[in-house]
Amino acid sequence: MMIYLVASLLGTCWASFVMCQAWRSTQPQPQPARSYCPACRTQLVWQDNIPVVSFLVRRGRCRTCRAAIDPLTWYAEVVGAIGGPVLVGQPPAVIAFAILLSGLAASDAYRYNFTDGWFWLGAAVCVALAWRELHWWPALAVLAAGALPVALHKLGDGDWEVITLAALLFGLTPILIWLLTGSGLGIILILMRKSDTNQQMPFLPVLLVAMFTLLAHRIHV
Ligand SMILES: [Zn+2]
Repeated sequence: MMIYLVASLLGTCWASFVMCQAWRSTQPQPQPARSYCPACRTQLVWQDNIPVVSFLVRRGRCRTCRAAIDPLTWYAEVVGAIGGPVLVGQPPAVIAFAILLSGLAASDAYRYNFTDGWFWLGAAVCVALAWRELHWWPALAVLAAGALPVALHKLGDGDWEVITLAALLFGLTPILIWLLTGSGLGIILILMRKSDTNQQMPFLPVLLVAMFTLLAHRIHV
């Protein structure tokens, strides 16, 4: 029981951290070292920095200027709080891949891309952990199948890299189930979204939620 609680805390803190880093990377430099309100730039007190809880207590508004806070990080913190416990007892490669995907997803949520260096570093760790049971043919198949959609800009090249890595680590069947779940979730999210937003939907956060959904049902991705 205790381990699930610790995993949940770690998950939510990690989510809060990567979302903050991703958001900061979109802002002009220099920035205050400590977390601050984007609207009034007042530094946050520690009570306003507690993942999941602070946003609810402050009802999504800044303590100082009452400006509405973007709920994106709050969603991520909830996903982290659930994702942490879901990863307990999973194989090391699955845990490493989930941590990598969560970092890339945070970046994707704000920037619609990610820094390639982080991807390759994470991919190297995942591949090392799954070294003896890599699925080369599925990875090649995904690599080939993705070329056309990427060329036509129907699929981001970052998404393609991540899905190819997943195929290499976990094989074809789990990846197809994962993509199907992710696409279903993506369609639901697009339908739920207000019709006035034209922005594209970042796919990696959706894939992260899909992965946790499948793992929670003990289907190994
Ligand atoms: Zn403020």
